[in-house]
Amino acid sequence: MSNKVIFIIVDALNFAASKRMGYMMHLAENKKAFFCKVKAELPTLSRPLYEVLLTGTPCYENNITNNLIVRRSTEESIFDLAKKNGLKTAAAAYYWISELYNSSPFNYVKDREQKDETKNIQYGKFYFEDTYPDSHLFLDAEVLRNEHDPDFLLIHPMGVDYAGHKFGGNSKEYYESALRIDFILGMFIPTWEKLGYKIIVTADHGMHDLGLHGGIDDSERQVPLWIIGSKSNTENFRDHLPQLQVAPIVCKLLGIEPSEKMEKCIL
Ligand SMILES: [Zn+2]
Repeated sequence: MSNKVIFIIVDALNFAASKRMGYMMHLAENKKAFFCKVKAELPTLSRPLYEVLLTGTPCYENNITNNLIVRRSTEESIFDLAKKNGLKTAAAAYYWISELYNSSPFNYVKDREQKDETKNIQYGKFYFEDTYPDSHLFLDAEVLRNEHDPDFLLIHPMGVDYAGHKFGGNSKEYYESALRIDFILGMFIPTWEKLGYKIIVTADHGMHDLGLHGGIDDSERQVPLWIIGSKSNTENFRDHLPQLQVAPIVCKLLGIEPSEKMEKCIL
């Protein structure tokens, strides 16, 4: 069985919004996907939680304490580990991901498209406008996948976060943006599954009704997680998954050892 993994971080998709995603819930209902609630680490901000998801370390340790910390991560990320194991890495993601794992600060000309096998993210397409359409971003990822056949592909759309900030986390527009992600996933997942990919879909943080995030409310902290195409030990798991578990789970799906700092995988 292939160990290729597509890891999708839907920025700011909270647990309530996941209920609007009928295709993804269909997969869960029919046991084609493992589905659970994740309790996000604090603070519920993007840059700190990209670091949590991709290195499995808490904020007090990695010191990516807020969105204003613009520097390379000093922790061992899934990209580092994958590369160390001879796997090919790729990402279609917001430019902060490039800043954390490839080079910082972001150079708009040089870093928008990256192809460099010495980097942690070997093949990358990075956007910097929060309004960059999710439909385009997923096609950027498909181009990377078709051209480079990565073992680990990160896809990171921003449309849900944008709608949440503009209209609030309990607005029609926010829920519509989640539904649009569901449509997009419904276009790609059947093909990816047939090709043998393991697919993990989750979010960094959620969205408060007021159109912000950073704090401790359930709307900010509770996010969904789906795993498709893996026979992990998920049958009896019913509780909240701690977000620090996501990185070691991705390592397990990739068939590589987690870093020393990552928690032991409980799935
Ligand atoms: Zn946001």
